[in-house]
Amino acid sequence: MFDYLIIGSGFAGSVIAERIANKLNKKILIIEKRNHIGGNCYDFKDESGIIVHKYGPHLFHTDYKDVWDYLSNFTEWEIYHHKVLAFIDGKKVPIPFNFNTLHKIFPSELAKRLENKLLENYQYNSKVPILELKKSSDKDLKFLADYIYEKIFANYTAKQWGMKPEEIDSEVTARVPVFIGKDDRYFNDKYQGVPKYGYTKLFEKMLNNKNIKIMLNTDFREVIKVDLDSKKIYFFNQEFKGKLIFTGMIDEFFDYKFGRLPYRSLDLQFNVIEKEYFQEAAVVNYPNNYDFTRITEFKHIHLTNTEKTIILKEYPKAYNPETDIPYYPIFTKENQESYSKYKDLANNFGNVIFLGRLAEYRYYDMDDVVKKALEVFEEKVR
Ligand code: FAD
Repeated sequence: MFDYLIIGSGFAGSVIAERIANKLNKKILIIEKRNHIGGNCYDFKDESGIIVHKYGPHLFHTDYKDVWDYLSNFTEWEIYHHKVLAFIDGKKVPIPFNFNTLHKIFPSELAKRLENKLLENYQYNSKVPILELKKSSDKDLKFLADYIYEKIFANYTAKQWGMKPEEIDSEVTARVPVFIGKDDRYFNDKYQGVPKYGYTKLFEKMLNNKNIKIMLNTDFREVIKVDLDSKKIYFFNQEFKGKLIFTGMIDEFFDYKFGRLPYRSLDLQFNVIEKEYFQEAAVVNYPNNYDFTRITEFKHIHLTNTEKTIILKEYPKAYNPETDIPYYPIFTKENQESYSKYKDLANNFGNVIFLGRLAEYRYYDMDDVVKKALEVFEEKVR
């Protein structure tokens, strides 16, 4: 009945499904364990008209023109340049740390000196990972690096990951840069925005095709059996000879043969506040105070004219497989080694493609996962 089975309806699964349906005119079944499509990008409009991102704020940004053009087939965009403040020593200052932050925190003479030192050592409008700045031999830059490290980076990272910054792969720590310039925007990509009517509407349009059927509320293990010895896939007890695209957790696919891959999870607490606005920006980070890492106010992302507002506090926590969503793969050497064992096993399954942040056990931004899905379609599916 189906030529392709796809597990998961986030960007990884949905992009592949859309391509197969429209380009190859083949039949697809998407199996999704949640009661909605869109994976972690799912959003909804609350009764007052505010668009809320159910799994935390999702801001789209990319330098890939092909990805932007592709997604523009399914949505108009609301141009939105994300700005983040951090609550440091009683002040809310722009981050990533930039020249404006310098002048908000330090007396003007010191701020000017530090600015000049940064300009002497790094290119204007470039980003320097905090761990690199920390290695500087210049006394002033070292002072600055230690200040940023302590006030903005170390406690936030400890809260977010439950470990020291040094223990985490540089792929993750490089995400916290110092910006050599005055741009207060959180991202510097060429294309930035949010889907005008929300991500869920974008997904609905992407998957609106007679070739695509969607089975919600279904864990793939209820309908699919993976035989690790014969490398065969059974769908409702019949051998499935088509292609399976798997975007769930790779360790779950292999029944945790080599143990569970560790994840970090989040406790998300939403509050309705009876006033027009709660804070000055969409996101305010709290590196040093409180147990939560940040507060998001959704009205800043999709501007909405309402008397009340909705905020979200994120409390990072260890991942409990019984109760939690696996939000972030934890990048350590040891975890990468465990993942490679699963990857080697996956290579023996010729008719299964493993794609996305859970199946590849890596942090993908949305644009990266769309890019990868488009490439995988061209190289492995077509
Ligand atoms: P997912 O969206 O997780 O989709 C996987 C799907 O598979 C899910 O729907 C899941 O329910 C389903 N599934 C899993 N297991 C099974 C099973 N056993 N049976 C059936 N179905 C299953 N990226 C950005 O570019 N900008 C941002 O601002 C941004 N903010 C983020 C904030 C947070 C808090 C998080 C966690 C991520 C953020 N991201 C952001 C990253 C973004 O969410 C990912 O790039 C994107 O969701 C990856 O898509 P995916 O399809 O690989 O995974």
